[in-house]
Amino acid sequence: MTTTAKIKHYIHGRLVDTEGGRQQDVFNPATGKVSAQVILASDADVQSVVAAAKAAAPAWADTAPLKRARILFKFKDLIEKHHDDLAAAITREHGKVFSDAKGEVTRGLEVVEFACGVPQLLKTQFTDNIGGGIDNWNLRQPLGVTAGITPFNFPFMVPMWMAPVALATGNTFILKPSERDPSPSLMVAELLQQAGLPDGVFNVLQGDKLAVDGLLQHPDVKAVSFVGSTPIAEYIYASGAARKGGSYPLRVQALGGAKNHLVVMPDANLEQAVDALIGAAYGSAGERCMAISVAVTVGDVADKLVAALIPRVKSLKVKNGMEADAEMGPVVSAAHKAKIEGYIDAGVKAGAKLLVDGRGLKVAGHEQGFFLGGCLFDHVTPEMTIYQEEIFGPVLCVVRVPNFAAALDLINRHEFGNGVSLFTSDGNTAREFSRRVEVGMVGINVPIPVPMAWHSFGGWKRSMFGDTHAYGEEGLKFYTRYKSIMQRWPESIVKGAEFAMPTTK
Ligand code: NAD
Repeated sequence: MTTTAKIKHYIHGRLVDTEGGRQQDVFNPATGKVSAQVILASDADVQSVVAAAKAAAPAWADTAPLKRARILFKFKDLIEKHHDDLAAAITREHGKVFSDAKGEVTRGLEVVEFACGVPQLLKTQFTDNIGGGIDNWNLRQPLGVTAGITPFNFPFMVPMWMAPVALATGNTFILKPSERDPSPSLMVAELLQQAGLPDGVFNVLQGDKLAVDGLLQHPDVKAVSFVGSTPIAEYIYASGAARKGGSYPLRVQALGGAKNHLVVMPDANLEQAVDALIGAAYGSAGERCMAISVAVTVGDVADKLVAALIPRVKSLKVKNGMEADAEMGPVVSAAHKAKIEGYIDAGVKAGAKLLVDGRGLKVAGHEQGFFLGGCLFDHVTPEMTIYQEEIFGPVLCVVRVPNFAAALDLINRHEFGNGVSLFTSDGNTAREFSRRVEVGMVGINVPIPVPMAWHSFGGWKRSMFGDTHAYGEEGLKFYTRYKSIMQRWPESIVKGAEFAMPTTK
């Protein structure tokens, strides 16, 4: 499989250039060099991609779910066959280590496997003879043209949270991937085409805000799934609600940013908690919406935990993600690296103790790469920006609290509520925590509790706008609309008009 130096749209089964002429550099973060140019959509491109998806929608909606599933089964085989190619493309443009990129492909593949069960998933309810020879049942029908707007940090997995479910349920789909790592989107398009998906059913629109706004405002787009930062998620949600025109209001699910805490209770297995924190805070250089960025130590566990973390953070193997023993790659861009460094400066100024400073790290042979070493802050307090805001980098903050109630209160007062984890050996504490914590995804002795494909993914509070979570049954609901049907046939119809509310006879 190849990626071109100029990364184009994929509309109606063909790679097409923009009519607007704008484009942007795509970097390999490990070398700091430009690897390609991605075109950025114009209004004319938005019109043509929506027209293609609209034209393909009726025939695809009428295709039997089993036939749609058979295409997805082939797509699943092709992903497996090209697992390493996809992972290499992710590492090349995102920077995460290859083994992590392979894990990303697997987690995306799992949603395809879920969507292959669509004939069973679309089975609905039927009530025979509600009275007077009348039956009542319901259907879940496709919406038509749907769109997905995705972030840089999972250029394969997050599109797979959306597209397989949208396609399986009979919708056409337009993917607007992140302009920072757009190549996997075209590989997905190529594999879907090879799997036999009709032209126009899956399309890719490369671009930035102009493409997003165009999709949001287009009256033929029936639903938008968004995953990205909270300010943009809120903007997407509000713009969707404010859209005028079209015969349907825009349906929106918008998943936003996070600040995920991991609580270490005094009775936790310390070794396991340290391993969990190292993997969850520094894996993917902290650029995961489910990364752990705050360790909350309860009681006297703090000193022991911090002493165990320091040598582990210092000895992280930070390298080009394609090197076999790399544990952490670069961050995605020079601008993002500078933003993270700005947070580190702010933390030091605010009085937090920087125990491990990853700034200034140079990786031999990759001097221009966007590398940062792991950073560890102790004595972080809730009023500091490094506690309040999402840094999205390899920076772990330790917050010390006296007891379980204070840990729970701290987490529940945070504006985000995406993921959370508790390490303990006490079942009662775990149960109480799971029930009381105001966070959408909870791990007990599990650091990154990303739900499986047949459960659903989504945070609470300002980590999600809209009320249907991604993939699983919630995703199925998002991409279909519910219709109730009642029928009777002439022999059972009672003569004469009825003026009272119909009731069972
Ligand atoms: P981002 O919000 O900058 O971009 C996401 C998408 O929105 C991209 O496709 C981008 O082109 C588009 N976009 C950016 N600015 C826009 C604007 N002003 N108007 C319209 N569209 C715009 O996010 P990112 O930096 O690519 O990704 C990282 C963020 O995503 C983090 O905050 C992370 O927590 C979040 N994220 C959340 C989840 C989740 O499930 N909750 C999953 C992955 C990532």
